[in-house]
Amino acid sequence: MSLNIPLRVKNLVARYDTSDPFRLAKDLNCLVYYVALPPGVNGFWRHVLRKRTIAINEELEEWQQAAVLCHELGHIVCHPGYAAFSMRNISFSNTRIENEADEFAECLMSYRYDLDEYYVRPFLSQSWHP
Ligand SMILES: [Zn+2]
Repeated sequence: MSLNIPLRVKNLVARYDTSDPFRLAKDLNCLVYYVALPPGVNGFWRHVLRKRTIAINEELEEWQQAAVLCHELGHIVCHPGYAAFSMRNISFSNTRIENEADEFAECLMSYRYDLDEYYVRPFLSQSWHP
């Protein structure tokens, strides 16, 4: 079954009345941290003491951090059981699930960024981001 990602993004933006990923993260009870991560690792999310916690590479540019946050929000909205699995084997990557999160991020970013100027999808697909 494939998800209708653009519709999911549209519903999310309508429901919380914002397309700002940082506000959406707050509304979805996510804590966002900027941390030192190896180059090429954009970020990840996991449960920490039952709180959804999103870590973003502090070295990225601002729009890239927003794109990573959108990607992780995509997992939280579309793949709620995924993080636990991906953390057990850090090299594991499910292509379909990652593509869905990238599509989610691209849709959500398109509300605030000109995608002809900010290459969200290529940026996300080139880096490692469970
Ligand atoms: Zn991912």
